Amino acid sequence: MEKRILLIANGQVSRAEALACSGYRHACHVMLYSDTKSLLFGRTPIKHIILMQMRFDGLLGFPGGFVNQSNESLEAGLCRELQEELGVALSISEDDHVDARLAPVTSPSPSRLITHFYVKKLTEEQIREVEQASLSTASDHGQEVLGMVRVPLYTTKTGGGLSSFLSHAFIGNARTQLLDSLLRLHLLSPEDLHKALKHSLKTHAHTAVDLQAALALTAAKRDQSLITVTQAHTHVQSQ
Ligand code: AMP
Ligand code: MN
Repeated sequence: MEKRILLIANGQVSRAEALACSGYRHACHVMLYSDTKSLLFGRTPIKHIILMQMRFDGLLGFPGGFVNQSNESLEAGLCRELQEELGVALSISEDDHVDARLAPVTSPSPSRLITHFYVKKLTEEQIREVEQASLSTASDHGQEVLGMVRVPLYTTKTGGGLSSFLSHAFIGNARTQLLDSLLRLHLLSPEDLHKALKHSLKTHAHTAVDLQAALALTAAKRDQSLITVTQAHTHVQSQ
């Protein structure tokens, strides 16, 4: 009993515990990945291809979505979502389930959310097929999904690559799911990840400065257009 309370306090639950929770909705997402021998610019090993997506809300996330608990299992729901978002039938099983956790409550809603995360290794050829189908046959392309993206795992001479990727905005705990998977599957060493994250924070600070400058610029333009509208209004009244 104590263990269960501890686990729930941490947000993490087992697949079975998650299914035993009533009054919760479930969402399932998957990380599809493969090894690759290809090189960037003919010299930098790409090593692994990890698929993520640019979502309709402008955030990066993994493919997947809500499960209809009344008529499908978690895995069947995930496969249906993958068919819609990627345009392919993939078989994801209970064995591919790696994590379930209670999503932090952000809005007062009648049902709370448990997010499930799966990981599935494919061949490089299968990854290419998924990418092609996501553009040609997926019904969600251009709507819920704006495009599939590969995660750069390397670091360029100027410190770009993974660090820049990690400084983007992610849905829910997708960034943590990515980082946990990189370590668990030994796709990247903790040392390299640590370095990338340190650089990522610097990129993040630079982004904030950039946004401040853009904000100041649009504020000036907005104020200018307000003055023009007011002047036109005054001109009309004085006639
Ligand atoms: P979706 O239909 O893909 O937007 O996912 C259903 C719900 O899961 C949404 O409320 C998202 O906020 C949440 N969600 C989406 N992706 C993730 C993720 N990678 N980790 C945690 N929650 C997510
Ligand atoms: Mn989705």
